[in-house]
Amino acid sequence: MAQHIVVIGAGYAGMTTALRVDRRHRVTIVSAEDHFTQRIRLHELAAGRPSVTVPLAELTRGTGITTVTARVTGLDLDGKRVRTHDGREIGYDTLVYALGSRTDTDVPGVRRHAYTAERAVELRKRLGDGGAGDLVVVGGGLTGVELAAELAEAYPAWRVALVTGGEPAPGLSEKGRAHLAGVLGRLGVRVHAHTQVAGVDEGRVRTDAADIPADVVVWAASFCVPSLAAESGLAVDERGRVLVDDTLRSTSHPEVYAVGDAAAVEVPGVGTLRMSCATGMPIGAHAADAINARARGRTPRPFRFRYVIQCVSLGRRDGLIQLVRADDTPGDRIVTGRAAAWVKELICRFTVASLRLERRRPGSYMWLKSRHAAAIPAPAALRQP
Ligand SMILES: Cc1cc2nc3c(=O)[nH]c(=O)nc-3n(C[C@H](O)[C@H](O)[C@H](O)COP(=O)(O)OP(=O)(O)OC[C@H]3O[C@@H](n4cnc5c(N)ncnc54)[C@H](O)[C@@H]3O)c2cc1C
Repeated sequence: MAQHIVVIGAGYAGMTTALRVDRRHRVTIVSAEDHFTQRIRLHELAAGRPSVTVPLAELTRGTGITTVTARVTGLDLDGKRVRTHDGREIGYDTLVYALGSRTDTDVPGVRRHAYTAERAVELRKRLGDGGAGDLVVVGGGLTGVELAAELAEAYPAWRVALVTGGEPAPGLSEKGRAHLAGVLGRLGVRVHAHTQVAGVDEGRVRTDAADIPADVVVWAASFCVPSLAAESGLAVDERGRVLVDDTLRSTSHPEVYAVGDAAAVEVPGVGTLRMSCATGMPIGAHAADAINARARGRTPRPFRFRYVIQCVSLGRRDGLIQLVRADDTPGDRIVTGRAAAWVKELICRFTVASLRLERRRPGSYMWLKSRHAAAIPAPAALRQP
């Protein structure tokens, strides 16, 4: 039966779902912006890349999909309605919750004194104005590492430091971390490992060791999700991500699907998927397949997924491809240097190309699946010494 499917959020996951559901359904995308943002390139935007967006009108051309540019401020789950900041109410038969995540800035002084990846354009203006000084990136995950390397390469006049509570990129293999340390060293990035940040003030980052001088602070410590799901009454996990079953349907509201960073997706033998574009697109695609199957009166298949690689850009001329096991734990093999930078660039292009192809040929996006997911050792077991 044809339905009205409303997708809230036009990131990697929401766009994949919207473009993949059967075209006989009426599809409306509600997004705060009228364009798709390639979030995985925001560090490049801060370093001078002219643009990382694609208009939604272009991505949806010829599909019949309606786009509404508005911020979603409320969900009436009983009445099946989406409320927007400008007073609109949009009814749905099926809702796809795809509001993604953002940098968590809930540390004293961060909102006032630090930039985030979301503020890449302002950061670029600040760093590119010809000045120089101390630039401190906080966060040793892949986002923080990519930001530190990219900014150090693009703005050599700035002294760049990376501060992290543990080791930089702890999820990589020893070889992978050694390569990363070498590149950061070559780019002049000073790493403050095992350093807890207590807050940010004007001109300094306060840590459990000594204060670190900072003319500019870039905060990249962790992601958080919008509180809308929890406030609306959807069942969520402790981080506010929507709890879903193995077809990506909300465990509390069967007419709601949740995809991407905003969903807590558990895959047997793989674990709870990490927030990433690499997981968001397969999740979004499978949600569309499940919606299509149910609308045709069929039983949808459970979601299957396996990790293959982790890709880290280290400026424009270097990178790291880390081969990983199905559950994301690192293997021994890595690819480095220009070859890795090029693979990462291809992957970034592939994400947008996949959306364009999905527009023309819904159902074309494919991903690697774990054939015997349940037989894969759990992550904790693999990490035992
Ligand atoms: C610098 C950086 C580098 C990264 N590199 C990688 C990488 O190399 N590989 C990787 O896999 N991942 C990477 N990530 C993570 C990746 O970008 C995210 O995990 C991914 O974007 C999540 O996709 P999503 O579709 O769930 O959400 P998002 O891409 O965050 O999209 C969310 C959408 O919801 C909209 N929205 C939010 N709130 C509202 C609202 N209230 N009303 C209406 N619309 C709303 C937004 O405008 C947006 O359209 C990186 C992230 C950053 C910041």
